[in-house]
Amino acid sequence: MIQRTATRIEARPIDHDTRSWQQLLSASVTSPEVLLERLQLDPATWLSGAREGDRLFQLRVPEPYLQRIVPGDPADPLLRQILPLSAEADKRPGFVRDPLQESGAIPIAGLIRKYQSRALLMVTGQCAINCRYCFRRHFPYDENRLSPRDRADVLSSLTDDTRINEVIFSGGDPLVASDRLLSSWAESLADIPHIRRLRIHTRLPVVIPQRVCGSLLEWLSSSRLQMVMVLHVNHPAELDNHTRHALGRLKAAGVTLLNQSVLLRGVNDTADVLADLSERLFDCGVLPYYLHAFDPVEGAHHFDVSDDRARELVRQLIGTLPGFLVPKLVREVPDKPGKTPLDLFA
Ligand SMILES: *Cc1c(COP(=O)(O)O)cnc(C)c1O
Ligand code: SF4
Repeated sequence: MIQRTATRIEARPIDHDTRSWQQLLSASVTSPEVLLERLQLDPATWLSGAREGDRLFQLRVPEPYLQRIVPGDPADPLLRQILPLSAEADKRPGFVRDPLQESGAIPIAGLIRKYQSRALLMVTGQCAINCRYCFRRHFPYDENRLSPRDRADVLSSLTDDTRINEVIFSGGDPLVASDRLLSSWAESLADIPHIRRLRIHTRLPVVIPQRVCGSLLEWLSSSRLQMVMVLHVNHPAELDNHTRHALGRLKAAGVTLLNQSVLLRGVNDTADVLADLSERLFDCGVLPYYLHAFDPVEGAHHFDVSDDRARELVRQLIGTLPGFLVPKLVREVPDKPGKTPLDLFA
């Protein structure tokens, strides 16, 4: 039996920050010293490691996310996702810089074509939060971002391939880009008759709920394309009431909301946390979609969860949750036609 833990969601009510999302984004904490001070963590223990990790992959955390971290607790599951550590400098056999081998699937800078019916556009290389376990932490973004110069090429390649019925905005985090840019892309894509859906892979409505502003809702709800948003939440404490409100607005605008998580040691590698996450997502109008088995990315081996443990966790979820709240346990295997499910009963 899974013991349900009460999540901390209502425990610490916080006034809604009235700054715009752009202001919040640019006020993000990027200094290890500031982070440790804000979260009451002892610099003697944490500062040198935080600086070392930060040099490899910059610390970045926006204020609304920071407010959900419990001060003084080095094991906080939200803190673990953003705190740089000296362990990131360790090299381990099998942990590589491009575990998904994406650099081979890029016909035009910014366009990734791995799967037949979907094309992925890297709208921006920037993220609102830098997640330490990110499989793209070493990705050469500067070479692989969509440039306005390539826009015509991308659109004609999408027009020519009638198998493509869905375009995915990815990144980085595509919602870091302005609504002006995004809506003009959405308009051009809507002019291509075989494209039915626009999918947006983003963490922004979770980490800065203010991103769900009037101008975003306006272009999302006015397009011919069906809109799907795949969020990225790993722990139920990431979903506070402000996030729930923002997600409610997206849903009311007709956007289908799904979630993908990464299975991470010390963050969500217990059945009760995962069950709580699914329940809380559903409370927010979001269905669990994927649970990604950890990708062996260099610098993140301390998050690794074994495949056997991953399978066991999902089998436990099947025993307690309705089927629609059990995410699919998958891994991206290079050269496969889609994400590969892990065999739960192997
Ligand atoms: C994951 C991914 C997709 C989407 O795959 P789904 O299984 O449809 O969610 C598309 N393109 C790339 C390059 C991907 O990595
Ligand atoms: S938001 Fe996504 S792409 Fe950006 S660092 Fe986090 S996991 Fe990686």
